[in-house]
Amino acid sequence: MTDTRCVIAGGGPAGMVLGLLLARAGVAVTVLEKHADFLRDFRGDTVHASTLTLLDELGLGEQFAALPKRLVDHVTMQTDAGTVELDLQGLPGAHQHIAMVPQWDFLELLATDAAREPSFTLRHNCEVTGLLTERGRVVGVRYQERGAEDGAPLGPERELRAELTVACDGRGSLVREKTGLRSRVFGAPMDVWWFRLPREADDPVGAVGRLSTGQFAVMLDRGDYWQCAYLIRKGSDAGLRSEGVESLHRRFAELHPWLADRMGTIGSWDDVKLLAVRLDRVRRWYAEGVLLIGDAAHAMSPVGGVGINLAVADGVAAARILAGPLRAGRVTLADLRRVQRRRWWPTAVIQRGQRLIHRFVIEPELSATSGRSSGTRPPLALQLLRRVPVLRSVPGYLVAIGPLPEHAPSWARRRV
Ligand SMILES: Cc1cc2nc3c(=O)[nH]c(=O)nc-3n(C[C@H](O)[C@H](O)[C@H](O)COP(=O)(O)OP(=O)(O)OC[C@H]3O[C@@H](n4cnc5c(N)ncnc54)[C@H](O)[C@@H]3O)c2cc1C
Repeated sequence: MTDTRCVIAGGGPAGMVLGLLLARAGVAVTVLEKHADFLRDFRGDTVHASTLTLLDELGLGEQFAALPKRLVDHVTMQTDAGTVELDLQGLPGAHQHIAMVPQWDFLELLATDAAREPSFTLRHNCEVTGLLTERGRVVGVRYQERGAEDGAPLGPERELRAELTVACDGRGSLVREKTGLRSRVFGAPMDVWWFRLPREADDPVGAVGRLSTGQFAVMLDRGDYWQCAYLIRKGSDAGLRSEGVESLHRRFAELHPWLADRMGTIGSWDDVKLLAVRLDRVRRWYAEGVLLIGDAAHAMSPVGGVGINLAVADGVAAARILAGPLRAGRVTLADLRRVQRRRWWPTAVIQRGQRLIHRFVIEPELSATSGRSSGTRPPLALQLLRRVPVLRSVPGYLVAIGPLPEHAPSWARRRV
């Protein structure tokens, strides 16, 4: 592989958006993605209103609209004391909804469009294994190419030199580990079981949350099936699994009796994946020659389903700030600092909101399983939302648009 101007580790939402935009700026950019394709079930699927607006600006709105998807314009939270509806229909702009699209379709769309740009390269089956450094500056990566069929190493490790290395390799970021940049870890009271249940034509539509004493689940409408997220107390996975998969059948059917006859489709624990929830934020997102964005810089809680949106926004901001310096061939620490300054506070605001929800909604509810009943009254925040309808647009705005939506720079815009 020939040297490049910017190498991106990881082809998730942050890496693909950054790669596409830099390529449109004429910057030579190479994305190294360790997997053979984008097909992974274990990631989120929500494309929020601000990302939909960005896709319009990039001239990709029509192609996105053609993807199989569900549009969610309200979120229902069912509690033992009644139902709270979060309405997205009052959002400003062209999109008053969240689109539920398989993430692989979204990433494939970005990759297909980026491939039209001569300066763009995407290499699947290439895992970044280390950083190249010279006189304290990162000057590229080491990577291992693997066979598409068996994942076996193809030849020795190789090197790819670049003016800038961007870590978009997610919450377990190897690049972050190698740079030694340290995180602030906030912790979370829960982990999540992730599984599918069949969906029938007369089921509710959209996103359905269910909160009952000691139990909390969210179901995402994916057309012919429900993607279910069931919250468990942090660290309780092994103990709960030892009770047998029937205990999950029973618990979930207690929350949603109308799904009881479908629980048998979960035949074993192999059908139930564990998402160990992490919430952290790297203190400094950059060092000489290297930048961290997306989950690599700030692992998000699943609360609000905002991780993709934030990763995309980071990619847009990084491209807008760095395209010029990259074209000129020199990226300084001050350039990288500008990216962090731009994206730090919206990330911190959202993470603060997630921590409050962990503390005042999720933690008390999950603790109820250990005998501390939270009673039948819903948490105070939900009571307020029920009583003061005007407040219901606030969480909808923060989730679907976010505190600082990023827009495509003029040089990246395309008319359809
Ligand atoms: C089960 C689950 C459900 C979620 N649900 C939602 C949701 O509904 N809505 C939402 O907005 N967010 C959700 N999230 C979070 C969301 O998926 C992330 O916040 C978002 O994908 C972060 O984007 P990213 O590009 O920073 O990282 P990632 O999406 O994690 O992408 C990182 C990419 O880097 C690749 N990679 C990793 N290491 C290397 C390496 N060494 N070399 C090369 N490539 C590498 C990975 O294969 C991956 O493609 C969910 C996450 C999980 C796990």
